[in-house]
Amino acid sequence: MDTLISALRAALGDDAVIEGARLAERARSFWDARPLRGRALLLPRDTAAVSAALRLCHEARQPVVPLGGGTNIANATASGANDILISLERLRGIGPVDLAQQTVTVEAGALLESVQNQATEAGLKVPVDLGARGSCTIGGMIACNAGGNQVLRYGMTRDMVLGLEAVLADGTVLSGLTPYLKNNTGYDLKQWFVGSEGTLGIVTRAVLRLYPAPRSRHTALLAIDDFAAIAPLLLRLRARLGGLLTSFEGMWQSFYQLNSGEHATTAPIFDTAPAWSVLVEIEGQDAETDGALFEQVLAEAWEAGGLADAVISGSEADRLAMWAIREGCEAEAKLYTRTDQFDISLAMDAMLPCTEAIRTTLAEQAPDSDLHVFGHLGDGNLHLLVGHRREEIDSARVKQLVYGQVAKWHGSVSAEHGIGLDKKAYLPLSRGAAEIAAMRAIKRALDPHGILNPGKIFDL
Ligand SMILES: Cc1cc2nc3c(=O)[nH]c(=O)nc-3n(C[C@H](O)[C@H](O)[C@H](O)COP(=O)(O)OP(=O)(O)OC[C@H]3O[C@@H](n4cnc5c(N)ncnc54)[C@H](O)[C@@H]3O)c2cc1C
Repeated sequence: MDTLISALRAALGDDAVIEGARLAERARSFWDARPLRGRALLLPRDTAAVSAALRLCHEARQPVVPLGGGTNIANATASGANDILISLERLRGIGPVDLAQQTVTVEAGALLESVQNQATEAGLKVPVDLGARGSCTIGGMIACNAGGNQVLRYGMTRDMVLGLEAVLADGTVLSGLTPYLKNNTGYDLKQWFVGSEGTLGIVTRAVLRLYPAPRSRHTALLAIDDFAAIAPLLLRLRARLGGLLTSFEGMWQSFYQLNSGEHATTAPIFDTAPAWSVLVEIEGQDAETDGALFEQVLAEAWEAGGLADAVISGSEADRLAMWAIREGCEAEAKLYTRTDQFDISLAMDAMLPCTEAIRTTLAEQAPDSDLHVFGHLGDGNLHLLVGHRREEIDSARVKQLVYGQVAKWHGSVSAEHGIGLDKKAYLPLSRGAAEIAAMRAIKRALDPHGILNPGKIFDL
């Protein structure tokens, strides 16, 4: 008889403890359809049940993996046969939206898309948006400090969390569900949990900051021949558009060709593929005045030189076609047997030399692999897609090559996807020994037996 499982059944109810074949019916993650591994999967109904489960696991020194939608891109929910998984899928409560404060209090298992829908009904907007919106949870977004396409204007998940409730490894509930923008009352404990990838506590509820829903949206795709023109263009748009600029997304030539070529679902927008394309989007409250300002500012940018071509979207279909080139992933699936993906931050003046060095070395060491660069250019965040035509290319070698260059150019090995298991070996390239020691000290203070998501981000 398994005493811990019996105690968990007694505390949470039989239907909240899933084992054996029923556990293995579930997929490991959004990306990995193989059967989930674990000693048990717990489905607590509320914060008290999360607390009871963690108290028992803490006493039994039982490793626990918190689970949201499983959409993370860092292997941060990987579990072994002896782990207990805690999914927040029964904690999906939302709201009501507080119009006076422009906030909403949500349970951590709520899907981003559900929160977005509720905010929209109230005339408001959730400031962080991701392609995974239909599957990712608010708790998972907080634990990963997710970014997305509008960070330039609204910030990352960190910036939308005003208050937070989390359960520590020993079952202690830290409740700080305040709706205040300003709250300088000692350490900002909620921020310790943002980006902690489930290693410091389980987030159960959060107060999110909302913004007025936009009434107008204008989008353009700009072609650029000289990389040096990009930084002044970004500065001009930010200065002249008076805070309306929401996205400044970049595509290197080969990525544009990949996603508008024969294997893609979208047709090219320019006659010849530009060296760099930038997708620019603004959101505002007045379609007429915003549209006129957008056109005027783009005309000024044209006059100033630096733009090789520019197309302003005339309809929602045009806009979606532009975004489809930036977000499409059908071509890579058709062309490559396997891909390695990277999510790095670099200073604007390091982007070109760093990516060129990676391209040159890759061409020498892996001539059957292609490098495609794209991403949240305005945030200094590039995504690198390395597509392999042959299965046998060693991913470890590709990672060494990419991260070696990122370190040389003083970049970050993870801009928004987190460390998880995938980037653990490379954390010291972006964070100093003293910083990692401080992270370990915080981990030991909040989770003395190291039960929460062990082995993720760093080893103890
Ligand atoms: C199509 C697609 C597009 C994406 N685009 C972006 C993007 O633009 N920007 C971006 O940043 N990411 C992006 N992602 C990655 C992903 O969606 C985010 O990392 C998301 O925040 C993960 O949420 P989740 O609920 O799926 O968490 P999971 O993947 O389940 O978990 C992520 C981490 O959080 C922990 N965790 C989960 N819930 C909790 C909780 N309640 N308390 C404590 N820890 C918890 C887990 O243990 C794990 O460490 C994308 C993913 C997909 C599939």
